[in-house]
Amino acid sequence: AELAWLLGLCREHRIPHHVLGSGFNTLVRDGGLDGVVVRLAKLRGLAERPGSRLRAEAGVSHSQVTRFCSGRGLAGLEFCAGIPGSVGGWLAMNAGVPENEIESRVDEVEVMSPSGAAIRHLPRADLRFVYRALRGLAPGSVLLSALFSVTLSTPDAVRHEVDRQLSRRAGTQPLNVPTCGSVFKNPPGDHAGRLLEAAGLKGHRIGGAEFSTVHANFIANTGNATASDVLALIEHAQKTVHSQTRIVLVPEVRVVGRPA
Ligand SMILES: Cc1cc2nc3c(=O)[nH]c(=O)nc-3n(C[C@H](O)[C@H](O)[C@H](O)COP(=O)(O)OP(=O)(O)OC[C@H]3O[C@@H](n4cnc5c(N)ncnc54)[C@H](O)[C@@H]3O)c2cc1C
Repeated sequence: AELAWLLGLCREHRIPHHVLGSGFNTLVRDGGLDGVVVRLAKLRGLAERPGSRLRAEAGVSHSQVTRFCSGRGLAGLEFCAGIPGSVGGWLAMNAGVPENEIESRVDEVEVMSPSGAAIRHLPRADLRFVYRALRGLAPGSVLLSALFSVTLSTPDAVRHEVDRQLSRRAGTQPLNVPTCGSVFKNPPGDHAGRLLEAAGLKGHRIGGAEFSTVHANFIANTGNATASDVLALIEHAQKTVHSQTRIVLVPEVRVVGRPA
């Protein structure tokens, strides 16, 4: 009710709103965001539902889901262990790993209209998931919750698979420095990280932003990076890779806000 009221107020006064999950794949330009930033920190409900299903509200964190499923032996979402963010962010980004994406486990999504006036329950068949995006919703719609299908297993088996996923990540991603997640989508048949590395961009730096030396498709903030530094690095990489391979790298990171 609070959220519907807020969105209604924004609509009435023509104030733009931006829905933010946990911000792990978002870059805010240096001038900040105009209007209202909606965060769903209070939507933290997580429960088993009949028929081997899990209902998770949009503000639930990745680690909450992993802990819950591990504790109860619910299998199917282990591949998401270590994809940092919220359930809302997972859905909006169709988060995943090379072998799987969140869409494979979604049965239904609950969405609030941009004006806050209506809530719809959309079955999987009505959802248009594509690589790292969920299309077809009106801009400004708010994902409220989802029903995921899970399989009954044992806590040990789920924990084992979660550990496998986490250790794979630990060796290949820069987990101890601030980044804005994967910078570019993988182009068909190739990997953005491989292309960036082949172009000699691993470790390349502009201002305080640097292509990670652990995985080139992450930009690390070495301490004092501005969003402009990150964007300059993105543009430089796109030009360099294009001039060498004719491949256009498309950003995966969502860039919002206005320049300083
Ligand atoms: C170290 C690291 C490793 C990562 N590894 C992976 C990986 O392996 N696979 C992968 O897919 N991603 C990966 N990411 C990216 C990131 O974890 C995912 O994109 C995740 O889904 C982001 O969730 P979030 O809540 O932080 O989203 P945010 O960054 O807050 O938002 C992302 C987008 O979702 C929208 N959004 C968020 N919540 C809602 C909502 N409730 N309603 C409507 N729209 C909403 C936002 O408006 C924005 O457009 C990684 C990031 C980092 C930093």
